[in-house]
This record gives sequence, structure tokens and C-alpha cells, in this order.
Amino acid sequence: IFASISQAPADPILGLVSRFKADPAKKKVNLSVGAYRTEEGKPWILPSVAEAEKMVVNDTTQDKEYQPIDGKPEYKRPVQELIFNGDIIDSGCIATVQALSGTGSLQCIAQFLKFMGVTKVWCPNPTWGNHPKIFQRALLECDTYPYWHQEKRGLDFDGMMAGIEKMKEGECILLHAVAHNPTGVDPTPDQWQKIVAACKARKLIPLLDNAYQGYASGELAKDGYSQQLFTQSGMEFFIAQSFAKNFGLYGERIGYIHVRCASKDAADAVLSQMKIIVRQAYSSPPQHGAAIVNKVLTTPALKEMWLKELTFMSNRIIDMRVALRKAIEAKGTPGTWNHVTDQIGMFTFTGLSKDQVMRMVEEFHIYMTGDGRISMAGLNPGNVEYVADSIDKAVRG
Ligand code: PMP
Repeated sequence: IFASISQAPADPILGLVSRFKADPAKKKVNLSVGAYRTEEGKPWILPSVAEAEKMVVNDTTQDKEYQPIDGKPEYKRPVQELIFNGDIIDSGCIATVQALSGTGSLQCIAQFLKFMGVTKVWCPNPTWGNHPKIFQRALLECDTYPYWHQEKRGLDFDGMMAGIEKMKEGECILLHAVAHNPTGVDPTPDQWQKIVAACKARKLIPLLDNAYQGYASGELAKDGYSQQLFTQSGMEFFIAQSFAKNFGLYGERIGYIHVRCASKDAADAVLSQMKIIVRQAYSSPPQHGAAIVNKVLTTPALKEMWLKELTFMSNRIIDMRVALRKAIEAKGTPGTWNHVTDQIGMFTFTGLSKDQVMRMVEEFHIYMTGDGRISMAGLNPGNVEYVADSIDKAVRG
């Protein structure tokens, strides 16, 4: 029966992780996957999360019954408050559904777009590799708008705005809410205002992928700027909120879908339809990660700890940006390297070519994606010099 099934290629990112693990080289560095690492290069369980988890496990009032299809109702407000102000939450205009981290949220939103009769989704070029696959899987057409300017090593804002002008009423535009993956380049506040106005004028359906709130600046409110602007605009839009990175809860698969609607009636109807999508896909969400997030957000001392930990993680990454740029510039490596410190969030889009990336992986055992993206969280004082040295050699050819 299965003899005709051909071998699929490994996932471009997770496949690299497996190759890294299997690589016997003594000196090797994993800069492929977007997961936080300590100065010692180890995964980190946030102390606030560890504390909350203990409280959750010891809570004898909890059971292992199914959760509601859309998650526990009392868990919704604390996660909404990370994005929306109290008035809009009180208005009942936001439909919120617990989902399987960012990817699961995007899956359900994609199915919902299809159900609504949307035909096309526009993604930035480049974007996270899974985005187009998720929309195509929901039988939506997927196209791109300009985002990265190779020569400027920054945002192609004019190109982006011209791209938005080409979009038609009722089409969906995917935007990275903060810390764009893979480029590490976000619009400025002024540019965001123009983007929101253009989306409104063209009557588009915005979908904000919020996978890194708190990771860019260390501050939730600052990193929530684009979401605030869309909310103030009065537009209806979707948010896919992930707690993988900012809580370090990668494996717990915890996130939320928020749909900002024009009225409470619309939000109630949207919620009822979204629940059908969830019910048919996986019935109901897991409870452990949701309970941990809720415990952190509703226990003032733990929330304070978490906010400090977020700042700590983002600061460590900023320090690594400075260290990498300094080390590369000290070698006089050809090219400009200010983009290493200009970019934000977890990734740097190095600008290395495919061949240069190949050398980084094959010769220096530094694992990174083919587009030249490196996860800054994988750098530490012990490997930054080796990485800079390898970049220097790869660039000089
Ligand atoms: N969106 C973007 C832009 C991402 O980078 C990621 C993670 N790499 C996700 C969504 C989804 O992450 P998760 O499903 O782990 O929350």
C-alpha cells in the first residue's frame, strides 16, 4: 500500500536541528531554530514558569477533564490584556480561542478565512517558511508583497506600500506584529501608522502574527504597538498569539486566537464558528501550558518576575548583537555590518549568500537556514568569536 510513497524532504529548520545533533564535530554551533539559549548554550526554563508549574501541579482542585473547545473562559482576560485595553475587552468585541501555539492559531485562522470566502492571503517577502504552506493547506491562494530591501539591508517600505495598493478589498494581509522573522526588521511607528491607514483604505483583512511580543524591546507594550494601532483604527482583524518564545513554553503548544470584531454580536458569531473548526480539528486544547500562563499572569509576584525575565532574555540577545558586530568589524570583513545591531528580535538576516551559508554549515559546522538567517539566541560569549571568524572566512571566499 505504501510502496509508492516517496521520501519527503526534511523540514528546512527542524531538519537542521537533527543534523546538528548528529554532527560529531567538537566545535559546532546551532543558530538555526528560534529558541532561547542561556550563556552556556542551554535551553532555559523561565523561573517564573517553573514556579507557576509547581503551583499548578500541586493544585488539588484541578482535574484532567477535557477543557472547553475554546479554552477556559477565565483564562481569556489575562491573555487579552497583554494586547488590548480594558474598555475594548469589556465591550465583548473580541472573540478569543485558546489554540495550539502560534502555528495552531494560524491553522484555525486560515480555515476560518476559507470559510468566510476569502480567496487570497498576502505574505511579506520573505516570511516564516511555514506561512504559505499553512494558507495553501487551507486552499487559499498565497502571494507576496515586498518587504526586505537587499541593498539597504532593511525594510523596503515603498515597495511594501506599493504592494498594498495592489491588494483587493476582502483579501487578507499577513503582518508580523513585532520582530519580523526572518529579517529582524520592523516598520517604524510612523510607518506602521501608514500601513494601518492603507489596510483600512483598501478594506483588507489584517492578520497579525504575534510570535515575539516582549522579545524585541523587552517591553510588552512597546512590542504591542502595531496591535494597538490596528485596534484603535476600529478595523476588524485577526491575531495569532504565541507563548512559545516569550514564556519559553515551546513544547507546551500554548497560544491564543483573537478576532477583533465590530460588535459583540459579531464576536459571538465568530467564536461559535471558530469553535466548530477547533472541534473538528482536535476537539479541545491541552490544559497544562494554559494553566501555567494563567498562573504567571494572575499572580502579581510571578508576573513581575516574568516581565524581568523577558527583559533579561531580550537584553542578552542585544548584547550578542553588539558582540558579533564588534568581532566581525574587528576583522575588517568586507561589507557593512550595522544591520546586525540595527535588526531586532531573535534573528539576524546576515545577508550571506547561499554558497556562503553552505560553507558555514559544511565547513564550520555552524547551522543556519539557507536564507542566511541566524538565531541570535544561539550565540554566547563562548562561541561568538568562532562564528565571527567563520563569517569572515565565508565572506572572503
Ligand atoms: N510565526 C512566526 C513568525 C514564527 O517565527 C513562529 C515560530 N518560529 C511561529 C509563528 C509559530 O511558533 P509556535 O507554533 O511555536 O508558536
